[in-house]
Amino acid sequence: MQIWVAISNNDLTSLDHKEVVLEGASLSDQAGNLSGAASQLRFSVVRNQLHLTLPGQAARVVLGDQIVIAAKGPITVMSIKRAGGKGLHPSYLGEIRVANLNGKLRVSLRVGLDQYLRGVLTAEMPASYHAEALKCQALAARTYALKPRLPHDSDNANVCDSYMCCQYFAGLGQIDERIERAVVATAGQVLTYQGQPLLALFSSNAGGHTENYENCFSDPVTNEFPPAPLPYLAGRPEGKFSVAAGTEEFLRYLYQATAVKHETQISMDSWTPKFHWQVKLNADALESQMHHVVEKLAAAKDTAPFVIPPKSGKFGHIHGLEVLKRGVSGVAIVLKIKTSTGDWQIKKELVIRKAFANTDIKLARLSSARIFFAHDYDNLKLLKNLTVYGLGFGHGVGLQQTGAQGFAKAGFDYKKILGHYFPGSNIEVM
Ligand SMILES: [Zn+2]
Repeated sequence: MQIWVAISNNDLTSLDHKEVVLEGASLSDQAGNLSGAASQLRFSVVRNQLHLTLPGQAARVVLGDQIVIAAKGPITVMSIKRAGGKGLHPSYLGEIRVANLNGKLRVSLRVGLDQYLRGVLTAEMPASYHAEALKCQALAARTYALKPRLPHDSDNANVCDSYMCCQYFAGLGQIDERIERAVVATAGQVLTYQGQPLLALFSSNAGGHTENYENCFSDPVTNEFPPAPLPYLAGRPEGKFSVAAGTEEFLRYLYQATAVKHETQISMDSWTPKFHWQVKLNADALESQMHHVVEKLAAAKDTAPFVIPPKSGKFGHIHGLEVLKRGVSGVAIVLKIKTSTGDWQIKKELVIRKAFANTDIKLARLSSARIFFAHDYDNLKLLKNLTVYGLGFGHGVGLQQTGAQGFAKAGFDYKKILGHYFPGSNIEVM
């Protein structure tokens, strides 16, 4: 099966490119736009037309506004860089389509599904993980390619290559034989619910308890929050705990248990340093940045519905933070920021994580939204320091990679593990 993968720009935030430069051996196009094979092609959109420039020649218009390029061997996209490729330009095996899509320069890759999976697995999970954990990732990634959360139909693609939207795909690299085995051993296998590929969400570490879909995500089409629940994306405990889940007390218990008993496994996913973390912010760093960040989130189209300002509309001095509503894992669903000009509310996991972005401590977002706080006030009762304590890394919905590794090492096979993370699901060959 062949799929189209839309290739993102340099920082993975957009599918729009300013310029696309392709290099490879004997680059050619099926429609015959190129008179002979080339080794470098440069594309741009000028005055709403796709332009092609060959080395030493003037730019010319590409008829039909799109071109599909093939090569002998890999094609390297010189106009972008990818982490994981050690700051190098990514190379792809397959055909590259460059198009003018409503005035935007787009680039996408046509590639075999399993070839794509090799790239995803290489980027998403260490090859040193247990064979059964790698198989879990192979099934989740294959299923995700068939049913991404955000449909990419309007991009003329099945998925994109960004971990901020779909799953990370950094192109062709050295494929480890253990990853190769996981892809081959599970060939064609897809996770289904009621006969259809399910939404196979995954993240790195769930910090002791996975979360319900509707507590972390909005509806991909309507942006409605919460969306309708998905029965196979229901939060599961990763161990036997003495405190009821879904509370701040639960998060404190997990945090302290791992901080004290390093050697004792309290849950299937507690073996990794990602399990618990803390971020310290002094009031100056918090004051100088959080109001800008929150105002930006309030202005951006995709996050604006999840930022509710006080009547004053102003962001005053920060008095403190409080989680008003939590999900089954303890994830923050609604965060209150108490300020001198009124209380702001921030909703939804990823928006809450982003609200803490802070260049002073080089933080783009919190590792997760399974958080609780310690406030430190001076004698004037002004906030001096804030410590954010957190559990897990990522959204924690569906499969968690470190949990799969814990289960695999404890002797569970990939079918049992996937049955745990996607209750009520089946595995079918498609
Ligand atoms: Zn995507």
